[in-house]
Amino acid sequence: MEEADQVEVDYVKALSLSQMEFENEQDLIIERKIKETLNVQTEEDEQLANAMQLSLVMASSKAVSSAFKIICAGCNNEISRRENRFDCNGIVWHVKCLQCHACIQMIKDDQFYMVENRPYHKSCARNKSHLKCYVCNDFIPYIGKEVEYGEHPFWAQKYCPSHEDDGTSKCASCERLKPKGREYILLQDGRSLCVECSSFMILDTNECQPLFREIQEYFTSLDMKLDQKIPLLLVEREALNEAMKGERNGHHHLSETRGLCVSEEQIIPVIHKRKHTGRNSTLNTQPFRLVRSCEVNAILILYGLPRLLTGSILAHEMMHAWLRLQGYPNLKPEIEEGICQVLAHMWLKSKINVGFEAAMIASSSSTQQPLRSNKQLSKIEQKLGECFVRQIELDNSEAYGDGFRVGEQAVSQYGLKETLHHIKHTRTFPF
Ligand SMILES: [Zn+2]
Ligand SMILES: [Zn+2]
Ligand SMILES: [Zn+2]
Ligand SMILES: [Zn+2]
Ligand SMILES: [Zn+2]
Repeated sequence: MEEADQVEVDYVKALSLSQMEFENEQDLIIERKIKETLNVQTEEDEQLANAMQLSLVMASSKAVSSAFKIICAGCNNEISRRENRFDCNGIVWHVKCLQCHACIQMIKDDQFYMVENRPYHKSCARNKSHLKCYVCNDFIPYIGKEVEYGEHPFWAQKYCPSHEDDGTSKCASCERLKPKGREYILLQDGRSLCVECSSFMILDTNECQPLFREIQEYFTSLDMKLDQKIPLLLVEREALNEAMKGERNGHHHLSETRGLCVSEEQIIPVIHKRKHTGRNSTLNTQPFRLVRSCEVNAILILYGLPRLLTGSILAHEMMHAWLRLQGYPNLKPEIEEGICQVLAHMWLKSKINVGFEAAMIASSSSTQQPLRSNKQLSKIEQKLGECFVRQIELDNSEAYGDGFRVGEQAVSQYGLKETLHHIKHTRTFPF
């Protein structure tokens, strides 16, 4: 993941070059003065630069070659060698032509910022340059004197609020808006996925089985083995929503249902095995009859999501299944969804903290459950995993968000076993 657009800001000490060209001694004095000024301001400016993800470049006083005509970037006329001028990395202005691109006032100060080859007052750059939209790559417009912007709590990229409803695609997995000029993958049921998420996506039931086994092993390692063999099926969005309507007590997520633990008898179109003939191959769905054999007939998961997200949804649904198979009473949504989210969160964290946990196990005297040693995740997958963890933590719905937060606190205070025991007997978290 590159920082999409590294805006370059040149920190400029503007110099009156004509005075210097013939006076080398003057050069040294001025250079020393520049250094002094810079030292005072470097810290502050570095902070600004860091905040803006910009690079700080010092203008060189020798940037203008005296062999060529010098043309003013403001009025496009020639600047005579005797004239005073402002210079920044070879871009030159008449002193009277240096205009701030934000406020359209003259820049009289001898220090200014360059943002994408345009000059700004220091104060104007400060206000504007860290408010660049990562979607349209333009400055986020002022509304009156204020700048209003949207910002994802994990990715922390700012964007114009208008992109939320101007048809800009949003990744159905990591929630990032599609930057202009980038490609997103369009799934057949209308969802879009960013390139990063789509590089890890799981597309059919067959492809999901290793992950299913991995999560079954995870439950076993927690001493919560599911004895019942439950089919796991990947389905399209529409099929999932239909199946949800068929459930008598299906709590579901407010924004989008991504998984379901099915108890009723239903016939569901399932994506068994996709023919790998390129990204746009048609989905091969077949009707699948779910027969009521026990409390849980199947777990349905939305297809096309990246591995870690699919896994966390699976862990969540497996927890529903476990609760039913263990004969837990009907629970309030914030208790049931809360504890299921706790499991999803635990599994995700076990994946992204792999290096850390492996080290812990190696150093401990090994009475602990041997955790399946996983390959270290790639940087991109690790970052996505962290995003999915934050999505769970920051969910603002009552059942999933508040439920998770209370459940997580209970588990960290009393342990998972104790918390579950308490839920079974009182239908509440132990608080
Ligand atoms: Zn000019
Ligand atoms: Zn200005
Ligand atoms: Zn924008
Ligand atoms: Zn994404
Ligand atoms: Zn649930």
